[in-house]
Amino acid sequence: MSLKTLLFWSGCWILLVLPHLSAAQPLQTAQNYIVFDQVHVLPMQPEHVTPDNRVLRNQRVVIKDDRIIAVGSAAELAVPAGATVIDGAGRYLLPGLAEMHGHVPPLADFSGVPKRYLDDVLTLYLAGGVTTVRGMLGHDRQLQLKDDIASGKRLGPTLYLAGPSFNQHTVTSPEQARARVREHKQQGWDLLKIHPGLSLEHYQAIADEANKQNIDFAGHVPEAVGIEQAILLGSRTIDHLDGYMAALGGFDKALTAADMAPLVALTKKHNVAVVPTEALWQTIIGAADSEKLQAYPELQYMPAQVIAGWQRYLQQRSGSYYTGDTALIHAENRRLLLAELYRAGVTILLGTDAPQLFSVPGLSLRREIPKMVDAGISHYDILRSGTVLVGKYFADKDQFGQVKAGQRADLLLVNGNPLDDLIVLYQPAGVMVRGQWFSRQQLDSLLADIAAARAAESKNL
Ligand SMILES: [Zn+2]
Repeated sequence: MSLKTLLFWSGCWILLVLPHLSAAQPLQTAQNYIVFDQVHVLPMQPEHVTPDNRVLRNQRVVIKDDRIIAVGSAAELAVPAGATVIDGAGRYLLPGLAEMHGHVPPLADFSGVPKRYLDDVLTLYLAGGVTTVRGMLGHDRQLQLKDDIASGKRLGPTLYLAGPSFNQHTVTSPEQARARVREHKQQGWDLLKIHPGLSLEHYQAIADEANKQNIDFAGHVPEAVGIEQAILLGSRTIDHLDGYMAALGGFDKALTAADMAPLVALTKKHNVAVVPTEALWQTIIGAADSEKLQAYPELQYMPAQVIAGWQRYLQQRSGSYYTGDTALIHAENRRLLLAELYRAGVTILLGTDAPQLFSVPGLSLRREIPKMVDAGISHYDILRSGTVLVGKYFADKDQFGQVKAGQRADLLLVNGNPLDDLIVLYQPAGVMVRGQWFSRQQLDSLLADIAAARAAESKNL
């Protein structure tokens, strides 16, 4: 944060603790203030590490425009005149969550999905408590979409976007790869998306140029590159964990922690983060219960064409990641790997690869989080994976992922302590995105509207 910004925010804070802040000051019309009152706060600040200070009791949290401007007790902080007050009594307030491997459909209508699908996806993310999405595949006009959301022209989570894919079809030589890296940087993409199929030579050229241009690259681990090189060459994240399984031969034989130890240590040493997308991957490899998948209530929000594609995948029982008979061994290897990465202190970031294969945007967190619990990740660290650690990852873009003054006002109000039971995250009492508040009632009506549109479309099919 610049000194100017810092002074600005600390200035706001001082104004707020003064008893006479009110309509008397024309520039402080107070119309833009929202206050959460008597709420228990999970600040998710790195210094709040002990079980005692992970929750601040009975706080007042003051929002102005898109920022949190103060957090304190009622004795310390006045409610600005005219502020909208949200009763937080008995509830818990935490930072909004992130989808670190998400997708946003193209703006243009394609393959017959309804025109409103893009807006529905953006709304679903918010309804699921997702206020930040790292979009993992760029499309035409997506940068415009990002700006439109940031400026409030369109409703949605804040987007940080990977550009169009780097793969064997889009990369033809090291020189062309370098030129493409520079082009993506110049166009304003936040990172480069790596897909399978790249040669090691091309991957090295991308990595080297990306370092020079100070832009991240992340995504898949191409087979010819391998996990070790991907880590050594500086992939910012390793997504889906499949690169580890390929290197360790974990698709069809049981692995031990000792087998995994060298790669786990290398990941930690090079400070590479992982985005497991574990729920999706269980589906992809054939380890998920297909009846349960097809009974997910959140499918009511997805277009019939999209669900049909997902069902085809289940029926075909094939695909490059499908492991058939050994899927359960493979799944257990992945669970153990995630457990070992966690134990070694590797940064784990929350991601589900929505909207892919039964991962409905936002609502897919309720499928991913239990997989993280299965791997032994603590409730607090699961929350960190979607909040403060994401803020740290994007520290050069904005301040968010914690509840404290100066942070972007992305917040989740929930009806119980998520440290006791994470289930409270799945039905938030309300969601705030960049200072805009949606109560449970509003979220329900947005969801009902999407479900109604889907039902009407099905009648016309
Ligand atoms: Zn993806």
